[in-house]
This record gives sequence, structure tokens and C-alpha cells, in this order.
Amino acid sequence: MKPIQMVDLQSQYKQLKTELDARVIRCIESGAFIQGPEVKSFEADLSTYLDGAHVIACANGTDALQIALMALNLEHGDEVIVPSFTFVASVEVIALLGLKPIVVDVDPRTFLMKTEDIEASLSPRTKAIIPVHLFGQCVNMKVLMGIAKSRDLYVIEDNAQSIGARCNITDDTKQMSGTIGHIGCTSFYPSKNLGCYGDGGAMFSRDEHLANKIKMLANHGMERRYYHDEIGVNSRLDSVQAAILNVKLPHLDQWNQKRRNAADQYDQQLAKIANVLVPARVPWSEHVFHQYTIRVTDGRRDELQKYLAEQKIPSMIYYPVPMHEQAAFSKLVRRRVPLVQTEKISKEVLSLPMHPDLTEDQISYICEHVGKFFTA
Ligand SMILES: *Cc1c(COP(=O)(O)O)cnc(C)c1O
Repeated sequence: MKPIQMVDLQSQYKQLKTELDARVIRCIESGAFIQGPEVKSFEADLSTYLDGAHVIACANGTDALQIALMALNLEHGDEVIVPSFTFVASVEVIALLGLKPIVVDVDPRTFLMKTEDIEASLSPRTKAIIPVHLFGQCVNMKVLMGIAKSRDLYVIEDNAQSIGARCNITDDTKQMSGTIGHIGCTSFYPSKNLGCYGDGGAMFSRDEHLANKIKMLANHGMERRYYHDEIGVNSRLDSVQAAILNVKLPHLDQWNQKRRNAADQYDQQLAKIANVLVPARVPWSEHVFHQYTIRVTDGRRDELQKYLAEQKIPSMIYYPVPMHEQAAFSKLVRRRVPLVQTEKISKEVLSLPMHPDLTEDQISYICEHVGKFFTA
């Protein structure tokens, strides 16, 4: 059995090595490093994959979220609703722009923000919601978009962990994750489901006006060279990263399917173990399993992690401290709902190895040792 890794970037590289090497070298030889043809063709192909949403590539997923918020013309002190159980970027950008993060709780079975908490968190200053499609499945966008529409709120989807997931927007219509709200933001950080070999990100929008504005903001607030209409930022996807993504994008669906197969096997083998809760799948969204995250309910999560490490099984805690308990944010974020589940699951979650090249043997070995820990 191959050594088990949390994410196996080497195996994936080996499978695509010939194509990747050739494309990267061709890009270097072309000398087009910034906004070259590789970036244009990646934006076009990703747009096709996303059923026609406009795509603007940028430097990373955090920038994508920041630029998306900048495009909404919000005012200092305006409020943005976001889950407290998330990666820091979702909340950080709100604070950086002088806006107020209003944090809500999550459903402990799915780790997704509770749409019931949105109504209770509204105020006259609420302007936007950032649903985070955490671990690979979508927040209930049918319900969330209904609330946003009735209150005239913007929706920015944090799609960094859910690229490729199809989500119901009505009972019988599905749409790609990240293309349902006003703006969707994603990351191509190497370990994401679609990752490059450095930093990368993108914003999606079906609204042409917003897409143009985002494009301008990501490029120093200029449309015409050296004429600056707004204060923007410099946030670009470089051509070498785009070349890598161009090779990888056609494989995304197949990789996501392999992640689901791995999750099925985990579910089957872990379901019987007392003190372990497997992640629940929602009926309204496909799951692309960016993470496979269990909950350890007997208070021994950290002990289990240590035991697994001794068996050469890596695992990670996503995320150990909710945003409202972080030193940088505890005084800054506001809450109008209790965050009971967030506080509880932060002490219970454990993400197990998950990537498309995980073998059946490896998953069985992992599950066997999880079982052994609780029966020993
Ligand atoms: C990875 C990630 C981001 C940020 O992406 P970077 O490219 O690392 O800046 C934002 N939100 C979530 C939920 C993420 O997982």
C-alpha cells in the first residue's frame, strides 16, 4: 500500500505529466506571462463549464472575495452575513473593507450555514450574504436566494471548496455552484478540487455589468490603460498557472466522482462505529467532497488524531476555532443568534484523507484503525 496522504498531488501530476510539462514549457517559450492566451482560454473554458457565467480570473480565492465585495459599492459599517464556522478568508475580507461581519451558526450534520439564522440576523444595514459551500456541498440556495430577493440583498457565494457541484435552485432546476448568487468566488490553491501549482482564483457572475466592474477592479480600476475610474487592486492569475488549469479542467468532473466514491466507501465502513458521525449529504446539492469530515462525539477527537498519526494516517482539523472566538475577530464580529453548534463541532470535527487517488485499500486501512481506536 502506498503511504497515505491528506492530498496526493504527486499521483495526479504523474498522470498528466506529459501534457502539463509540454503546456508549461510552451507558455514560458511564448513569453506571454501576464493576461496571455492561456488565461483567456481558461476563462472561456471555465465559463462554458459553468453554463455561460462570466469568469474573471484573479490571484487567489481571498482576493476573489475581496474584489466581489468591492464591486457592490457598500458603505462603511454595512453588514454582511457569514457563517462563523469557515476558513478565515470569508470573514477577513469583510473586516478589511470596513464592513461588519454578522456571523451565523451551522447545521452540525452538514457543516453548512443555517438559512434559518439569516432572518434573525437582519438589520436595516444588512446588504449582503456570503454563503460558504463548506467541504463541497452547497448551502440551500433555493431558500437563501428567496430571502435575499425579498430583502434586496446581494449574495456572494464562497465556492472555494465546491467547484463542480450542481445545486437545485428550484425543485427541478439545477445550477453550478458559484453561479447562483450575484457573484461566485473560487480558489485554485493546489489542494482544492481544481488546483494549480501556486496561487490562483476566479470570480463568476451572470450579470454582465457586475462582471465588467469586477474585471476593472481586479486590474487597478482601469478599463482603458492608465485611466483609473475606481480604486482597484492588482490581482491576476498568471499564465503558467492558467496553462496548468487548462490541462486539469477537463478532468474535474471525473475527479469529483472519484471523491464521491471514496466518500461512499468511508460512509459504509464508518457508519457502524459508535462515537463517529459521518457527514450528512443534503438533498438539494451534489457533494464534491473537498473534505471528508467526521465528528467524534465522545470528546476524544484529539486522541484519535494522535492515534491515527501513529498508524501513519494523516488527518486535519478544519476548523479548530470559530471566527467569533479568534483573537483578530472576536471583538469585531457581531452575532444575533446563538452559535451553539459551531462551538460544539469545532471540538468534534476531524477531516480524513480525501483526494481522487485514494485507493480502496487505503480507505479500509483508515477505517479499520478508526474502529480499533474506539474498541481498544
Ligand atoms: C481556500 C479557501 C479560500 C481562500 O482561497 P485562497 O486561494 O487560499 O486565498 C476562501 N474560502 C474558503 C472556504 C476556502 O476554502
